[in-house]
Formats: sequence, C-alpha cells, structure tokens
Amino acid sequence: MTKLRLAIVGAGPAGIYAADILLKTERSFDVSIDLFEHLPAPYGLVRYGVAPDHPRIKGVVTALRGVLDRGDIRIFGNVHFGEDITLDDLKKHYNAVIFSTGAVRDADLDIPGIDAGESYGAADFVSWYDGHPDVPRTWPLTAEHVGMIGNGNVALDAARVLAKHADDLLSTEIPNNVYEILKESPVTDVHVFGRRGPAQVKFTPLELRELGELNDVDMVVYDEDFDYDEASKEAIATNKQVKVIDRVLQKWRELPSANNAGGTASRRMHLHFWARPVEVKKDADGNVAALVYERTKADGAGGVEGTGEMREIPLGQLYRAIGYFGSPLKDVPFDARHGVIPNHEGKVLQEDSNEILPGVYATGWIKRGPVGLIGHTKSDAMETVTHLVNDQASWWQPEDPSAEAIPALLESRNVKWTDLAGWHRLDQHEVALGEPQGRERVKVVPRDEMVKISRGE
Ligand SMILES: Cc1cc2nc3c(=O)[nH]c(=O)nc-3n(C[C@H](O)[C@H](O)[C@H](O)COP(=O)(O)OP(=O)(O)OC[C@H]3O[C@@H](n4cnc5c(N)ncnc54)[C@H](O)[C@@H]3O)c2cc1C
Repeated sequence: MTKLRLAIVGAGPAGIYAADILLKTERSFDVSIDLFEHLPAPYGLVRYGVAPDHPRIKGVVTALRGVLDRGDIRIFGNVHFGEDITLDDLKKHYNAVIFSTGAVRDADLDIPGIDAGESYGAADFVSWYDGHPDVPRTWPLTAEHVGMIGNGNVALDAARVLAKHADDLLSTEIPNNVYEILKESPVTDVHVFGRRGPAQVKFTPLELRELGELNDVDMVVYDEDFDYDEASKEAIATNKQVKVIDRVLQKWRELPSANNAGGTASRRMHLHFWARPVEVKKDADGNVAALVYERTKADGAGGVEGTGEMREIPLGQLYRAIGYFGSPLKDVPFDARHGVIPNHEGKVLQEDSNEILPGVYATGWIKRGPVGLIGHTKSDAMETVTHLVNDQASWWQPEDPSAEAIPALLESRNVKWTDLAGWHRLDQHEVALGEPQGRERVKVVPRDEMVKISRGE
C-alpha cells in the first residue's frame, strides 16, 4: 500500500480541518501528517484574531482541539516555514504539502496622510489585544476621539474593544497587560466609517447588536444616513440579514443619543455611513488630527458615488479595518494583487504560467482570500483534500520519507520546536493562571516563555 507523507504548513482552522478530513477520507493508502506552525500555539486567528469577548467561538476551539488530541497528527510548533524549514526540505521528506498560512496583516488604504503617527491597521491592534507574541506589548491608547475605517466584523470587533470598559473584559482571556492599558484609556468617542449605506454593510447582525449591549456606551446613528434608495429598500425587504441590521439601527434612531443629541453614557460609538475616507490630516507633530471624508450616495447600481461634499471629524487616533491580506512564502508562488497563493480549487499554480505545480496545495484564507468565517475553511479543505487524494500520480517522490528525519533536521538547525504534549503543557499553564481570578485562562504572551513552558524547560 502506498503511503502519503503530508506536510501541512499553518495550524489554523484550515490546516487542522484539512488534516482531519484527509484522515477520515476513504482512500487506498496510509497517511501520516506533520503539521508545521510558526507559533508555539495552534488555532491561528481563532486564538489571535477572534475577539476575547466572543466566547461562543469556544465551541470551535473544542472541535479543533479534539482533532489534535486524537494524536494521529504530529505537530511541530514554533517552526517558521521559509526560515526553519524550506520547500526543498519538504520535497526531500514528503509526498506533498498543503499551505494553510492564512493572513495576519492589514490591507493597505491608499489615501494621503494614512502614514501619520497614531494611524494604525486594525490587525495590529487585534494582534495586540489577543496577545500575539510577535507584536509589541504596549499600545498607545491616549486619544479621546478614535476613528475606525471599515464596515466589516473586524471593524466592529476592534471598535467594540476600544469602546468597552476594561472591567467588562476582565472575565475574558485578555492578557493582563492588555487589561491594564485598556483600563487607562481616555477614549470617549469611537467613530466607525463606512463608505456605503446601512443596507450594504459587511458586518453581521449579531456583531452589530452586541454594540448596543455595551455597558455605559451610547450608540449614535444619524438620521441623514437613512434616506434609503430603491436598491436599499429592496435589500431590506428581501434579505433577512439586512432586514435585521436595519431593525437594530432603526431602534437606535429612537435613542436620546441619536444624532449626537443627548445620552447619559461616558462613552459613545458613532456609526457614520455614506462616508468615503479621503485624507488623514496631521497635526504639527505629524500625528492624526482629523479624518476628511466625502459624503457618498447610492449610484443606483448597487455601488456608491461621491457627492463632492467634504466633511472633517477631529480624531486623535485612527484605525483602518478594510480587510486582511496574505503574505508571500519563500519559494511558493504568490499573487501579490490579491494576497493569495494562486490556485485552482486548491491546486497551486505556477506564478507565471498558470500551470499546476505538482505536490503543492493551498487551503483557507491563503487560498481564497481573507473572507468568511471559520466554518467556511472546512468546505475549502474538503475541496483541496479531494484533489490531493486524486492526484496520487503526481505526488513528489521523497528521498527520505522517514518520520525521524524531521526532528533530526530541526535539531541540526537548532530550532526549538514544540509538540502536542508541549501545547497541552502551555494550555494547562494558561488555565491554571486564570483559575485564581475566576477566568477561563490567562494567555502567556512572550514567545520565549511560551516555548519554555511547552518544552518543560
Ligand atoms: C479579527 C478577526 C476576528 C474574527 N472573528 C471571527 C469570529 O468571531 N467567528 C468566525 O467564525 N470567524 C472569525 N474570523 C475569521 C476566522 O478567523 C478565519 O475564517 C480563519 O481563522 C481562517 O483560517 P486559516 O486557517 O485559513 O488562517 P489562520 O487562522 O490565519 O491560520 C493560519 C496559521 O498559519 C500560520 N502561519 C503563517 N505563516 C506561517 C509560516 N511561514 N510558517 C508556519 N506557519 C505559518 C499562522 O501562524 C496561523 O497559525 C475572524 C477573523 C479576524 C481577522
């Protein structure tokens, strides 16, 4: 019987689901899977993207943990593909590789002044509040008026964390240093800007509704944004999700805080629709002073057009949450326009010829771009794995497929990798840290500490 020795790079949901699906697929050959992960902990954006106050996602973690805990997938954590291990290494030791490296950085927003001090990508802020080991441990929360550009769930997540009182996050798994900094935040007003109307937003009703439940935060919507065109009315009438979003927003129009006319809370969350960012104005020190935006209107074809009317809102800090973007991997084709690995249904294509690159596959956000929920990575993985299984004739023929070759290689390169038992140690350590405070866990943040705990050093 043939054996498939498979490397998967990236232990986010896409990589873990791909491994799980392959192991459960009916096939005529044995499989052994090694999962390489850059971080000393698995789960990708489920651990380092999903907001700490979204505990309902814990169910997904339980499912992913169940897959790893079965013990039929070898994990090599704290191993960076491209540095610690290369494509040539993988070809020497495996029949194929699936890349599931996701996306960690912000898409760029090309407007004048976006390079100002105090102008940030939301992805960096998210990585900070979720305790990602590779971002600075401090965050300068010094502004009273903060802007958030974007109308997707990431924008709402980051805006919510900015507006929320730190004590209301204390029961979650936020790292201690994040709590301390959020506690000192002088923020009073968070302004969220979307370039389209309320019926065209990208966020989901649940995330929107959550904003209205924040303790001591008034929601501020503006009547002028609700002069719906026919396309918006149609969307509200025919799309259940849009209908619920509209219902939530209409309720907020009835609040004393609507149109910024009143309200009693110490903090406010303003939702500005039909607002296309045009320029970030800087103060004398080069820091964010204001956002200039153009009012837009519906163009009748589902898009928007500018009205020529410019407005300006003074801000001390600005975030852009207009999407994530994948990063290139060494020696692996990359589509720099879309931030993905070029592929046909998960079969990776050569960068310049669109021909299939044998033995190389992709799944998850690095395959189809950074959109969609965790659940979508499952159907993605199914498609990729189906091709992998059917492509047996074009798998690589490794010169040394032995299981011992990889630990020996990493050892020879002085890579301090972590394994499944190590992840259990770190996991238990974090849970124990949270116990005295009645919290589910407290994340360990510094990478060297994570590695030491995992390796029992
Ligand atoms: C801020 C935010 C909030 C979200 N909230 C939700 C939510 O509430 N609910 C929901 O369903 N979905 C949510 N999502 C979407 C969800 O996180 C994604 O759908 C999912 O994580 C994508 O999975 P992935 O495995 O493709 O990528 P990722 O989760 O990004 O995993 C990729 C993994 O690859 C690793 N990696 C990258 N490069 C290398 C390398 N060179 N070598 C080795 N390893 C590498 C990374 O460290 C990471 O662990 C959210 C996303 C974001 C950004």
